[in-house]
Amino acid sequence: MVEKGEKSGKKQKKKKLKMKKSAYYEIKEGRLERKKQTCPKCGPGVFLAEHKDRLVCGHCSYTKWTK
Ligand SMILES: [Zn+2]
Repeated sequence: MVEKGEKSGKKQKKKKLKMKKSAYYEIKEGRLERKKQTCPKCGPGVFLAEHKDRLVCGHCSYTKWTK
């Protein structure tokens, strides 16, 4: 008799992107300070994604070059 108690070696890796919204803000003496730049088109609720040399809005693809 051959025992086959082992499960087939399928390993599933789960990738979770950690997006901390709180990291975008900082509270200083009761005042809210935004660390990240926000989109001028979409308003203060939309942050720009940071790239190497530019900031890009995920909503309207507004691009702000930092160089
Ligand atoms: Zn935008």
